[in-house]
Amino acid sequence: MKQTALERFLRYVRIDTQSKDDADTYPSTEKQYDLLNLLLLELRELGIRDAHITDHGYVLATVPSNIPPDDPASGKVPPIGLIAHVDTSPSCSGAGVNPQVIESYRGGDIVLPGNPEAVIRVSENAQLLDNVGKTIVTSDGTTLLGADDKAGVAIIMTVVQMLQGDPSLPHGDVKIAFTPDEEVGGGTKHFDLGEFGAKFAYTVDGDTMGELNKETFSANLAVITVHGRNIHPGTAKGIMVNSIRAVADIIARMPRDIAPETTADYEPYLHPHALQGEEAKSTLKILLRDFHTPGLDALKARLEQIIAEVQPLHPKARIEMNIIEQYRNMKDHMGEDSRVLDYLWEAAQRAGLEPRWVPIRGGTDGSRLTELGLPTPNIFTGGKNFHGPTEWLSVEAMNKSVQTVLELTRIWVEKSR
Ligand SMILES: [Zn+2]
Repeated sequence: MKQTALERFLRYVRIDTQSKDDADTYPSTEKQYDLLNLLLLELRELGIRDAHITDHGYVLATVPSNIPPDDPASGKVPPIGLIAHVDTSPSCSGAGVNPQVIESYRGGDIVLPGNPEAVIRVSENAQLLDNVGKTIVTSDGTTLLGADDKAGVAIIMTVVQMLQGDPSLPHGDVKIAFTPDEEVGGGTKHFDLGEFGAKFAYTVDGDTMGELNKETFSANLAVITVHGRNIHPGTAKGIMVNSIRAVADIIARMPRDIAPETTADYEPYLHPHALQGEEAKSTLKILLRDFHTPGLDALKARLEQIIAEVQPLHPKARIEMNIIEQYRNMKDHMGEDSRVLDYLWEAAQRAGLEPRWVPIRGGTDGSRLTELGLPTPNIFTGGKNFHGPTEWLSVEAMNKSVQTVLELTRIWVEKSR
């Protein structure tokens, strides 16, 4: 049965797939299977015979090549991967999403019906103006929408449907992966590159129409633990060592001009991100982000310097710092073969767009996959304001993404002749 990307999208966002930090299970939440299993079923309904789900919940499938044996490209087109994640962010509820389809949007701020405080403002969303007269989708304001990344899932499923149904769209083997737990940093934890079988891949997990991504942050996590000593406050004089005070002194010394809220584009940052504390022990998690990977060492040195200043103020507290590697700028590992990027650029142009390479101030599953040897740049979906109740989707952009991906699979064939 033929369906538009929008019809698919509206079906997928109603399924709660929120992932969870620090879970003991993989995927982090069982409910992600509700969508993963549905996608498996739909792929089979579209005639994809090898569609299956792995023990870790990855849905993998191949749209087999339709290149005739007498075509000069036959046997020469590398398998191309398309990847999207099914989970939504832990930072905002994804339960009971009630999508609002606004046809021929008339311009102006959008007050969401379920929450008068959730307003999508033109002043904060320049792209709204590009969508006047067009269709956009929002949540009702009580949940996120889930365009991140169910727009990507809907785009890929629509591409599968079109490639399967239309012999005039030439393509090599197209490898599909739907992954859990991207939002909690686990999307590639059990990703088996050999089983996936692609030589080059694309995540469909970006935002604004025309934006393509080949650069992401490099990322480390610093965990600072302060050990103090607790005792009843009534008899604490000269004995209590309050770790909360030491942690507060650390936070107070963190630079304000190297923060997510004060930086943009290629600027790095140090971001106090999570804090847990009692007198005896406090733990502070800090995100270190820089496009220039060696810059992470400079950020670490900055934290070490702060700790060296704070330690003498709390001589009886013990301050430790642990650095955990998270992901690396995909540009560092994209490799010599420029086709994966050049063809994407050309595909967006053929779809009628003016493409732009935009650095992502974050990571994607592609950051890690590229580092592991599968070059994986990222394609726009048309979603905006991810991870919160004002998330919205441009349906025109989503459809342009479908077109871009179809052009991309065609270009890989044409250029292999
Ligand atoms: Zn995403």
